[in-house]
Amino acid sequence: MADQSAIEWADATWNTVTGCTKISPGCDNCYAERFAERFRGVPGHPFETGFDLTLRPARIQQPPAWKRSRMIFVNSMSNLFHKEIPRSCIDQVFDTMERADWHTFQVLTKRSSLMRSYVNARYANGKAPPHIWLGASVEDGAWLSRVKQLRETRASVRFLSIEPLIGPVERLALDGIHWVIVGGESGPRARDQSSVGPGYSRPVLHGGRSVLLQAVGWSERQSQRQNVGF
Ligand code: SF4
Repeated sequence: MADQSAIEWADATWNTVTGCTKISPGCDNCYAERFAERFRGVPGHPFETGFDLTLRPARIQQPPAWKRSRMIFVNSMSNLFHKEIPRSCIDQVFDTMERADWHTFQVLTKRSSLMRSYVNARYANGKAPPHIWLGASVEDGAWLSRVKQLRETRASVRFLSIEPLIGPVERLALDGIHWVIVGGESGPRARDQSSVGPGYSRPVLHGGRSVLLQAVGWSERQSQRQNVGF
């Protein structure tokens, strides 16, 4: 677990699993893969096996040891609802999150149908508690089904990560969504986002609190971090 985070909207990361496999075009330039693969084959390094899916059960009890409240991004180096992660492992993560309720946990996935199934079974008579935020990641308009699946998830707080934004997103309905993050793609292989355009910010910022992280091809002013309260 990292007691600080380079991610603008989290204070810390908690990786009980590392490694993943690609599921859609938003994964093409996965920063976690790029980072992990740099250390493949380095003896003794935490990423000696690169981005191969690896369970890290020794980390499961780390958040309760943190006494000061933190905003924790869960599995920044993986995806908690990857189909090869055993259900017992996901259970342990949720058990820990429920217990460490002085923190806020952000669980973000592209596998939103599996998250919906898991969460709706676990909280069949209610909702996930408000300190466990559940989120879906959408990179363009082809993946709006994830927004629907997120909306159908029994969560107290739902958030949407539109990052990396690689194409237009039309008709984005934000009812039932409490927080939105939007950002362009960065890194050496960042794709051309000129088709997305600054006009995109309007539907995203309408009616929700948004953090605009970065936007390749947008003006500097538009690229600065924004918080819009509601
Ligand atoms: S789902 Fe996330 S962690 Fe997994 S490959 Fe895609 S971008 Fe990377």
